[in-house]
Amino acid sequence: MSAESLDARYQRQIPLFGKEGQKKLKNARILLAGAGGLGSAIAMYLAAAGVGYIRIVDEDVVETSNLNRQILYRETDIGSCKVEAAEKTIHALNRDVDVDAVCRHINEKSVGNLVQGVDMILDGMDNFAARYILNRAGLDEKIPFIHGAVNGFYGQVTTLIPGVTPCLRCIIPTTPTWEKNAIIGVTCGAIGSIEATEAIKYITGTGELLKNRLLLWDGLRGESESIQIVNSPECTDCGFSESEPDARRFPV
Ligand SMILES: [Zn+2]
Repeated sequence: MSAESLDARYQRQIPLFGKEGQKKLKNARILLAGAGGLGSAIAMYLAAAGVGYIRIVDEDVVETSNLNRQILYRETDIGSCKVEAAEKTIHALNRDVDVDAVCRHINEKSVGNLVQGVDMILDGMDNFAARYILNRAGLDEKIPFIHGAVNGFYGQVTTLIPGVTPCLRCIIPTTPTWEKNAIIGVTCGAIGSIEATEAIKYITGTGELLKNRLLLWDGLRGESESIQIVNSPECTDCGFSESEPDARRFPV
């Protein structure tokens, strides 16, 4: 796209963070873990905002039951590999986004390669096993991890920065009982949009991040609050390690 048409494309948002901020978005490299309900909202808004590179990772194919919330997909995508369908939708919106579509399971083995060369990790997962693996990888590579999770009409978001904030394991030590409960698309939209907002603020240096705070969204009441979160001295991910019992990975 020519410089003039790029300016036109982003003219309504450039006043928020300047052309410099827009350039930062163009140069940003994002790992989007999960191309489901949360991932759909995150991908669409980051692509619309002009984020230059999105590595989108998911191993699933599109199913009929995904369509109530996963707005990256159409009925004609049923049976297709999610990340390939996602790439198509993202490119229909913004051809300039470099999409790296990775159809792979996120586990201890694969995560090292998946986080290579990215500036931040965005949580579009539907399970805490994978989230803990991403949390650990973010700590190891000192990459910020924007956590989001949804349950029915409820959701939560926080921005986890190694050495600055608690990690995911500090605030949620074990898998909560509510994972994979019922879900409606609007909650994924609300929480995914807040995650994308955090990413845009982080990249452009705008506003105040959800650092050391967990935002709780109650869609049924139409209310949100943010509660303070702190490092846990017992955290097995960012706290004491077995090999270095006297040294914390990150100071509290
Ligand atoms: Zn921790």
